[in-house]
Amino acid sequence: MARKRVSVTIDPRLCKKCGICVEFCPKDVLGPGRDGVPAVLSPESCTACRLCELRCPDFAILVEEAEDGERT
Ligand code: SF4
Ligand code: SF4
Repeated sequence: MARKRVSVTIDPRLCKKCGICVEFCPKDVLGPGRDGVPAVLSPESCTACRLCELRCPDFAILVEEAEDGERT
């Protein structure tokens, strides 16, 4: 069975650098990044729980799942 791949994208134009997503990610996928916008530090650990997407007050995070080999 194809393995799910997850991509987490943060739109720096929408992000207000509150850090909520970093606090809520249970897998420490997100961490401090340049200019205060969180960075996706370990995407391979992401379980696609979407807590970050749901908690982001500015809808700056997009979590997408794709089968391996499929474009995200
Ligand atoms: S929760 Fe949203 S607005 Fe806040 S730091 Fe994360 S991406 Fe930026
Ligand atoms: S979807 Fe879940 S595991 Fe993945 S980055 Fe967001 S909070 Fe972390």
